[in-house]
Amino acid sequence: MSLWRYADRLPVEPLVTLDEGDTPLVRAPCLSSLTGCDVWLKVEGANPTGSFKDRGMTVAVSAAVREGAKAVICASTGNTAASAAAYAARAGVRGAVIVPEGKIATGKLAQALMHGARVVALRGNFDQALTLVRELVERHPMSLVNSVNDFRIEGQKTGAFEVCDQLGEAPDVLCIPVGNAGNVTSWWRGFQEYGAAPELHGYQAAGAAPLVQGAPVESPETVASAIRIGNPARWEDAMNAVTGSRGAIRAVTDAQILAAYELLAAREGVFCEPASAASVAGLLAHGAEGRVVCVLTGHGLKDPQTAMTRASSVIPCDATIEAVENAVMGGG
Ligand SMILES: *Cc1c(COP(=O)(O)O)cnc(C)c1O
Repeated sequence: MSLWRYADRLPVEPLVTLDEGDTPLVRAPCLSSLTGCDVWLKVEGANPTGSFKDRGMTVAVSAAVREGAKAVICASTGNTAASAAAYAARAGVRGAVIVPEGKIATGKLAQALMHGARVVALRGNFDQALTLVRELVERHPMSLVNSVNDFRIEGQKTGAFEVCDQLGEAPDVLCIPVGNAGNVTSWWRGFQEYGAAPELHGYQAAGAAPLVQGAPVESPETVASAIRIGNPARWEDAMNAVTGSRGAIRAVTDAQILAAYELLAAREGVFCEPASAASVAGLLAHGAEGRVVCVLTGHGLKDPQTAMTRASSVIPCDATIEAVENAVMGGG
């Protein structure tokens, strides 16, 4: 099964698909007892390239191919690049991605390169990259597959359908990280089409929180590289989504994000990337009531460097039974 089981609510045929969507919704017993809510995790890292971006990309690249596009392009903090590169490879069209130099997680870079995309490292940030690709597609016949492309939003709305179908009803609250704000826009559209209206609780990183501050942030900074965005393209849509749902967009610090990131891995057995943990950091910091779904947007393996700097170190050991015994049991 894939998100294409909702094909009748999507605007194109599945011309380019890797069986995306239909991701696990798992109970979070530890978070439930910490918060007093009934907490569930929507594990979007289980998508083909390891993030929710695949939901939008299968629809956007299918539409591009239908229209005869020979190339797709995007600006990206990493996951859009990995996803666009994979779907371009699958479609047999050229892929180009513009990423902020030195600011993208290792796994995402490896994916984009392996899938054969032209990877351009911009001496600038994501917001500048997006401005430049929007200008580039005015000059050249390339299909822009950022979430300013409405086909992306259409694909990503299926996350909301799935959660309602998996629970048998809508949750009371949806917690979600917010960067360029395409995804919160998508989930709200999905809930509305489903006839559901949970509160949307969006979370930005404190160093990259334009929607909380009410003004663009010139030099956004956060460990959560996927949401290091200072001027979200879907600003209006995101604000309409949260106010329409009687929710809010709030900020969480990097320390709160990393604490949630570690708790998810060590206590719930779910390894997500730092940006994804913003949804859980927000729930822990700001609370909620009732049945809560936290969207874990991307897989932890995307960003091995952050993991290795946070985790405890490995234990070297000689090849004798005594040494192994000591190492394993925690003795001298
Ligand atoms: C893209 C992304 C986000 C942010 O989604 P937006 O649609 O830009 O708000 C959050 N987490 C991860 C892992 C992402 O890749």
